[in-house]
Amino acid sequence: MPEASTLRVCALYPDLMNIYADRGNLLMLRRRCEWRGLGFELSSAGLGDPLDGDAADLYYIGGGQDRDQERCAADLHDEKREALAAAAARGAVVLGVCGGYQLLGHAYQLADEELPGVGLLDVRTERVEGPRLIGNIAIEVDLPGAAGAILAGFENHAGRTRLGERAEPLGRVLRGHGNNGADGREGARAGTVIGTYMHGPLLPKNAWLADWLITTALGDGAALAPLDDDLERRAHDEACRAAGL
Ligand code: GLN
Repeated sequence: MPEASTLRVCALYPDLMNIYADRGNLLMLRRRCEWRGLGFELSSAGLGDPLDGDAADLYYIGGGQDRDQERCAADLHDEKREALAAAAARGAVVLGVCGGYQLLGHAYQLADEELPGVGLLDVRTERVEGPRLIGNIAIEVDLPGAAGAILAGFENHAGRTRLGERAEPLGRVLRGHGNNGADGREGARAGTVIGTYMHGPLLPKNAWLADWLITTALGDGAALAPLDDDLERRAHDEACRAAGL
């Protein structure tokens, strides 16, 4: 029998970039691998740690307050950008949520300073003094093999993100604000690099996306064994209902 695959996940700044229980995304990936008999390995890279661009199949960075993003931005840009770009170039998944999403773009402009991003997504974010974009959100995504699927969750951000010409949105806003509250787009994607404003955490409320990420990150084309997703479906339905769908 062939050896079971192992999903190797690296969490970037897990202590600083983790709000609204974004760490739950890692737990969700672990459980869905282990329930299927797949291996799961979790490593982390914090401030000052080197990043190995070959050591993981999925790199993850959660959301953060502006002040925590400030602490991470220069480190991510100066110490980890090349390894992360190399990982994305070989097809590893890079997933950023909210503050993490903003740092995957070119920059996050604050009132008196610009935080550098790693530029893996052709997006730029500006913090505005207007109201924060807060609330339950639902989007219809456009992902290979999952066109028309729904993601539901929660958003809370001051930053307004605009997509450049080389970025595709992750999805179309059905309810909520999305990237900037104006253009009806949410998140961004370039190949296997994905950014989204959706907390929830994202994956427990959207089990299908967890499986999409596992399949894409493993890259072996193997179909995942089905799981009893009764509770997961109810969590998803409830999140959709909360968003007003
Ligand atoms: N600090 C960023 C903003 O307010 C990101 C917030 C978050 O990760 N929830 O836009």
